Amino acid sequence: MSRLLVIGCGGVASVAIHKCCQNSEVFTDICIASRTKEKCDALKDKLAGTTKTRIETAKVDADHVDEVIALIKDYKPDAVLNVALPYQDLTIMDACLATGVDYIDTANFEPENTDDPEWKAIYEKRCKELGFTALFDYSWQWDYKERFEKANITALLGTGFDPGVTSVFSAYALKHYFDEIHTIDILDCNGGDHGYPFATNFNPEINLREVSSNGSYWEEGRWIETEPMEIKSRYHFPQVGEKDMYLLHHEEIESLAKNIPGVKRIRFFMTFGQSYLTHMKCLENVGMLSTSPVMFNGQEIVPIQFLKALLPDPASLGPRTKGKTNIGCIFTGVKDGKEKTIYIYNVCDHEECYKEVESQAISYTTGVPAMIGAMMVVTGQWKNPGVFNVEEFDPDPYMEALNKWGLPWVVCEDPETVTVWR
Ligand code: NDP
Repeated sequence: MSRLLVIGCGGVASVAIHKCCQNSEVFTDICIASRTKEKCDALKDKLAGTTKTRIETAKVDADHVDEVIALIKDYKPDAVLNVALPYQDLTIMDACLATGVDYIDTANFEPENTDDPEWKAIYEKRCKELGFTALFDYSWQWDYKERFEKANITALLGTGFDPGVTSVFSAYALKHYFDEIHTIDILDCNGGDHGYPFATNFNPEINLREVSSNGSYWEEGRWIETEPMEIKSRYHFPQVGEKDMYLLHHEEIESLAKNIPGVKRIRFFMTFGQSYLTHMKCLENVGMLSTSPVMFNGQEIVPIQFLKALLPDPASLGPRTKGKTNIGCIFTGVKDGKEKTIYIYNVCDHEECYKEVESQAISYTTGVPAMIGAMMVVTGQWKNPGVFNVEEFDPDPYMEALNKWGLPWVVCEDPETVTVWR
């Protein structure tokens, strides 16, 4: 029924591809394309004989628009699922525009080289105007709206778990539980243990950049920025237990502030253990998180890329990780004149994920929604010309698909709320 071109073959892509192959009625043909073709071939070999989906592989460097255009022209997909890195978002969107093909991703644009003067000038202007200093924001991709409308194609942005499922939870809460949502607290808890003193659960470069940046939240129409890890709380997560969590800047705050009418405050919290935070601070203090190249023994290296080479590959954590994740949103607001609070969340078990697709739950909770987002677009259930965040579409078919494809959710109507301290 549909042909999907998947770009990237890392932790998230592997789960998304496994899930597409379980869903052969929708994804009759897929092409796995990435910078390292051997990884695509290895995944194709692993899946051979387990699925009716026909799989092809290709080599592509998605930093080069012309290479992506040539691949799209050759493979002729109905849509492109970008599960490479946020650095490739714009080149892949450009290629989709040039070829008239729908676009889907899981993370908003961030430049690889933050020393690029052209990017930096725009970034610094945005920091002043909007008041948050994260290196990523939606302005770059929202800017494609008119061009996607004119080309009559859809871009679906941010269909991972957060952003993605948390944003769909917000649309669902608004549709079925509230007349008006006043506050959203997004809680991302990983109660898993991989046994290493320090490792990141997804791409180390993207993960460490995110976590070591200033925090921020949105309140009464403006951003309030905090020092990294300045705001702390402790929460009792169903099926996981009590964990410390810290306020971070997170990309869905930006789109939910725009798309959930009347919302007064949006915050994002993630759990971290003390060992993770101590390692990260130490690495930051010695300069290992820097993205600026340095010369070493006559060779230019980027410290954070060198660190990535030293750290365990997130894909290798799967067989070692035990425990569960719990990710969801607490909403407060008003329904029929009465104040109410609800909590919608999913619990995912690392070992169960590994049994099913040989990945830990962090890749699983992102890869499953990536497949579901692609399914919404290729089946025409979510298809409008333009550029959209997931909360702008009808949440019901997506929520149904979460239950069906491995991420069942719970609505709790009497939850514990979040108390913060600094
Ligand atoms: P990985 O580092 O495991 O995989 C990235 C893949 O992209 C690799 O296969 C890599 O190829 C490929 N790639 C990198 N650069 C290029 C390029 N120039 N051209 C073609 N392929 C390229 O990352 P993850 O799987 O952990 O993350 C994938 C995406 O998912 C990221 O954008 C991340 O931000 C996002 N994400 C979203 C979440 C959400 O909830 N919304 C949560 C977690 C992640 P190679 O093998 O050659 O390096």
